[in-house]
Amino acid sequence: MTQTLAFGLTILKSRIHGKGCFTAILFRQNQQIAEYVGERITLAEAERRRNISGQQCICDVDAEWAIDGSRGGNGTQYVNHSCEPNSDLIVLSGQRFHYALRDITPGEEITTEYLYELGLEGTGCNCQTGSCLEVINRAGITGESARQSARR
Ligand SMILES: [Zn+2]
Repeated sequence: MTQTLAFGLTILKSRIHGKGCFTAILFRQNQQIAEYVGERITLAEAERRRNISGQQCICDVDAEWAIDGSRGGNGTQYVNHSCEPNSDLIVLSGQRFHYALRDITPGEEITTEYLYELGLEGTGCNCQTGSCLEVINRAGITGESARQSARR
């Protein structure tokens, strides 16, 4: 599958989980890294896809829409969760953007704190940061399929 990556991003094996999204250039604090793009779907469709496939790259945008980064994503769908993230995923005019929370040097993995948004509550976290909560379980849901896919 050919894939168009956003400028300054590269996809590499992650020590957190599967593939990760890494920087190829320097991103300054508060700088926009990339838009979270993909197929725009309704929340009902997002729910359906999460249930059938254990999808981990569907992000809610608002009360109506979500974005499925597995279809037409620009690399940001590989951004892994971390309890000590270096980027934030903000909502702006119905779109979502990764912003650098601090300077991110070339070759660093981009991370965001968003297990809850991806519907991965209950999944073990492997970010290996000092503030890692190890198991995120804000909603009290145990995501067995998500846990299995997290082991890949
Ligand atoms: Zn963690």
